[in-house]
Amino acid sequence: MGIRDRITAVSEIAESLKGAGRDPSSLVIESITSPAEAMIEGRETLLLGTNNYLGLTFEPSCVEAASFASQQQGAGTTGSRIANGSYAGHTALEQQIAEFYAKKSAMVFSTGYVANIGMISVLGGAGDTLLIDADSHASIYDGCRMAEAETVRFRHNSSEDLAKRLRRMKGKDGDKVVIVEGIYSMLGDTAPLDEFAAVTREAGDDVFLMVDEAHSLGVYGKDGRGKCQEDGVEADCDFIVGTFSKSVGTTGGYCVSDLPGFDALRMLSRPYMFTASMTPGTIATAQAAFSIIANDQSRKERLWRSVRHLYNGIQKLGFQTGPQATPVVAVILPDPLAAIALWNRLIDEGVYTNIAIPPATPNSLSLLRVSVSSALEPEQIDRALSVMSSVGLELGIIQPPALRVISGGGAAVSSGTAQRVQPTKGAAAPRA
Ligand code: PMP
Repeated sequence: MGIRDRITAVSEIAESLKGAGRDPSSLVIESITSPAEAMIEGRETLLLGTNNYLGLTFEPSCVEAASFASQQQGAGTTGSRIANGSYAGHTALEQQIAEFYAKKSAMVFSTGYVANIGMISVLGGAGDTLLIDADSHASIYDGCRMAEAETVRFRHNSSEDLAKRLRRMKGKDGDKVVIVEGIYSMLGDTAPLDEFAAVTREAGDDVFLMVDEAHSLGVYGKDGRGKCQEDGVEADCDFIVGTFSKSVGTTGGYCVSDLPGFDALRMLSRPYMFTASMTPGTIATAQAAFSIIANDQSRKERLWRSVRHLYNGIQKLGFQTGPQATPVVAVILPDPLAAIALWNRLIDEGVYTNIAIPPATPNSLSLLRVSVSSALEPEQIDRALSVMSSVGLELGIIQPPALRVISGGGAAVSSGTAQRVQPTKGAAAPRA
């Protein structure tokens, strides 16, 4: 298929989505008024489709730090750290992140995507093996494509499958790197990190563990360090990767490690070397945000209250949800058309969520990804639930309460059109 054919094919998909209402890829947020509200199509809209878990995008200390740093040091760095030099802020931020995690070293990257490709491409050298969860994010898959190592996928969240594959590799030359995520971005389920840490530890000292905490930083752990801290496995994690684009409320990525000589990897990582470094404003925002994450757990507590409110509320309405209550609440729909219809009608009624349909989803599920922010007020969550109820009933996705059958385990399952789908097992394509 040539370039023009590929453009035609993708344009046809966009047109068909537009025919059903809107094309998600060209939706414009006209103005943004708070971490949880925006104007879309001239309407006040609740934002339940961001990753603004701690609501820090409008935090005065973060915004003021960005503006002060830009005034003092300029709007951009205009080059990479290797070619054009590091700013003092880059190294200060790295030190702050290393101290936050109590790890020896930290390296920052321009985005979380770049952190993953930058680390995985250097860790997976020729003769090595990268073992990745089948439901991994696209940046993990792309890092594997850049690496010279062989890539092996294991069943989603299955430490048994990982252990089996590692046993088969016993005696094989080369290092092995196991890569998993704290919270998975599509269904909001978490990894059993204690099991993965145990399997990795027992497999030998040529097996390393890397955890992507993109969605779990600031969300889990007594100090907000993520799922590794929550599960007590930080010492077992050779590399913890994360992003600034979610809880931190800006852009950027990082990796922390205790590996001796870790800093030398800067000289091997092409995605670190050959792209412009993060701007002074971004550095200053991240510094201010990390100090809030480290010192103020009240946002995390508010976030979890909102998570329970939204997740339980959606289940009570009769929608099928992802398996766990986390800040990523997946609403599982019977097919892509139902997902497109629900997503469009919610926007009509002033509620913005994310739509995810095959091939970007595990098990080819069609879903809306409804994300939670600590900035959401309980009344706003109630408003969103009320809109979801009326639109869900209108579209026949949920049934009126009188027709609903309450299943065991507390999950309300519609007796009508919304079929029960087993959440994640294996996967076909990298996640967005
Ligand atoms: N890892 C995971 C698990 C993600 O979900 C994402 C972004 N959605 C990234 C990495 C990339 O982060 P960034 O947006 O900073 O590039």
